[in-house]
Amino acid sequence: MSTSIAEGLPVRAETTNEEALERIRRVIAGGGSSNMRNLGVPRPLVVAGARGCTITDIEGRELIDLNMGYGPMLFGYGDQDVLSAIAAQMRRAHMTGLPSDVDARAAELIQILVPSMEQVRFANSGTEAIASALRLARATTGRNLVVTFEGHYHGWSETILRKTTPSLGSSEVRSGALGMIPEALRHTVQVAWNDIDGLQQILEHVGHSVAAVILEPVLANDGVCGPAPGFLQHVRELTTRYGSLLIFDEVITGFRVAAGGAQARYAVRPDLTIVSKVMGGGFPVAAFGGSREIMAPLARNEALHAGVYAGNHLAMVAVTACLEKILANPSTYEYLEHIGQHVEQRLREGVAHCSAQVSIDRVGSVLAFGLIDGDGRSSGVIRRRPRYSMDAHRELQMRCQDRGVYFQPNPREPWFLSTAHTRPILDRAINVILESLGERATSA
Ligand code: PMP
Repeated sequence: MSTSIAEGLPVRAETTNEEALERIRRVIAGGGSSNMRNLGVPRPLVVAGARGCTITDIEGRELIDLNMGYGPMLFGYGDQDVLSAIAAQMRRAHMTGLPSDVDARAAELIQILVPSMEQVRFANSGTEAIASALRLARATTGRNLVVTFEGHYHGWSETILRKTTPSLGSSEVRSGALGMIPEALRHTVQVAWNDIDGLQQILEHVGHSVAAVILEPVLANDGVCGPAPGFLQHVRELTTRYGSLLIFDEVITGFRVAAGGAQARYAVRPDLTIVSKVMGGGFPVAAFGGSREIMAPLARNEALHAGVYAGNHLAMVAVTACLEKILANPSTYEYLEHIGQHVEQRLREGVAHCSAQVSIDRVGSVLAFGLIDGDGRSSGVIRRRPRYSMDAHRELQMRCQDRGVYFQPNPREPWFLSTAHTRPILDRAINVILESLGERATSA
């Protein structure tokens, strides 16, 4: 029996992932503090450490990670610049509950990189920041309805319940639906992604009641699908015409698909933006922001947004360290594009030689790879939900995990590449994936 230095808890060297997960499940409902982490995971993987682009499990096995904590780790795990900034701030001041110069520096850097975010408020998670942004949109416009797009994810609060949120009010209780307020559904309307005519029709009918149109400028929560050419510009024109706010949920795309996020990549200025993952480098932080005028109800304390930990010093210095690193290394995005292209190309070449139906989609360093049913691919500009073959994909995921390559077992969750992913490491991962695909085909 040895003792873990980190926790002071006894750890048996021979602990297996199964045993460790059993222990976790006894005290954490479902085995993880997010349903997303617990759903449909075929083979438990309990993490003991993470560095660069690899994770080490409790059994001491190293795996190449293609999920990277659902996206925040643009510079890989254990980035020294972020760690040093956190350590220095711990010594200086940590949790005061008062304004600080560290808040200002983080907000100024956001504004430099994303100029539409003239003023911001910080929050602890994407869900929180989105709920506050939607409340602000309702406060500013005096309207209630929110238009969303199919497959887009904006957190788990009631404010943003959508038709595809696990069904409410039906006799069959679907996963996650219990306890939600069904009436909240009356305040959202949903359109297919890239369907500009569908959006126009809705706005023609109920535009006078629409507070906001919210979207992921690159859909990245149901596979990956970028905006059709001109689509975002068109949405911008329509929302302006009907007096509704345009909200970009850049929780994933912010500081990832370009230094200035998707709004820089596609040259469209939203009214409100939510940023989170990459800017915190793994620390829990989010921000929402827009022009001074739009943020005025918050500045005047007319609309409510609060939180003991909102803008806490550690999150602020993590943001500062990550954004300063982005500003100092503009070639980061060329590198990410380069490795993204390489991975996509190698996968496409590899799957061309096997019988499996695979869908591969990518924008920059965000890539979706999933096994699909025969004709499950979306065709045309309007995005239809890809028909992923969940069981086959999970089986492939298990084979890869057993061979040291991790990606999320749910194909709707994309891969996130980082500057820590080198070409040789990625080639190793791709070889494992293609070999596993080949084996699957011969054993099927
Ligand atoms: N929006 C998008 C686009 C997301 O991808 C996520 C999380 N994956 C959220 C919102 C919710 O963020 P959080 O989990 O931090 O609440």
